Amino acid sequence: MNLATATHDDLRLLAERGASNLEGATAHELLQWTEETFGDGASDATGYRNSYIVASNMQDGVLVHLAAQVHPGVDVLFLDTGYHFAETIGTRDAVEQVYGVNIINARAEASVAEQDVAEGKDLFAREPNRCCALRKVAPLKKTLAGYKAWVTGIRRVEAPTRANAPLISFDEAFGLVKINPIAAWSDEDMQAYIDEHSILVNPLVDEGYPSIGCAPCTSKPAPGSDPRSGRWAGQAKTECGLHAS
Ligand code: SF4
Repeated sequence: MNLATATHDDLRLLAERGASNLEGATAHELLQWTEETFGDGASDATGYRNSYIVASNMQDGVLVHLAAQVHPGVDVLFLDTGYHFAETIGTRDAVEQVYGVNIINARAEASVAEQDVAEGKDLFAREPNRCCALRKVAPLKKTLAGYKAWVTGIRRVEAPTRANAPLISFDEAFGLVKINPIAAWSDEDMQAYIDEHSILVNPLVDEGYPSIGCAPCTSKPAPGSDPRSGRWAGQAKTECGLHAS
C-alpha cells in the first residue's frame, strides 16, 4: 500500500487485518508490526518517511523504551499544555536524553496567558472540556495529521472507560490507525518491566499520583479507588477527549 495516498478506508482495512492477525500479540510484536507497516522504509517506493508517532504523557518511560528498541530515534509526541508539573517536564527531558528519541512538543495556539485573556482566567476550573479541546485535542489533531498511525500507552486496567481498549483499531476521531501495545498489561506487568529495565518514572508516581495529567486537574486518588479518579476529581469529566471509550 502506498501510505502517502492511503485513504481512511485503506487504513481502516489495514487496522482490521492487523487486529485479526495480532490478537493476543505481545507489546514487542505489536510495535514490530507498527514499524513494518508504518516505519522507515515501509513505503520506499514513495519515499514516504516514518509515518507513526508514539504518544506519552511522561508518567513513565515504558512505552517509549519499548518503541525505541524497535525504532531508535522514533518520534514521541508530548502534549505540552503549559499546565504540566515541573516533574513531568523533567521526565520528558530525561526520556529524550536517555532513550534518544525525537520529542515533538505539541502546543496549543495560545499560551496560557493568552488563553486567560481570551477565555477568562482558569478556564480549566469552569469549562474543562473546552480547556482540553484547546490545549490537548486541537494540538493533537494538528500533529497527527502528519502521520498514518499513532501508538499510545493506554491500558485496560486504568479505568472503566478503557476496559475494552483494542490492541489495534482505526481511530475514527483522528483518522489514522491506533495501536495500544500495552493495553493488556496489568500494574504488575508495568512494575516488572520498570524494574527489569530500570525505566525512568515520573517522581510524582512515588508521591502517590498513579495517573498524571495537568497540575490543576490532577490530585491523589482515594485509597482503593481507580487510578484515574484523581483526574478532574469532583467533576463529571473522566477523559481529555484523546481516547474514545
Ligand atoms: Fe486544561 Fe485541565 Fe485539560 Fe489540562 S487537563 S488541558 S489544565 S482542563
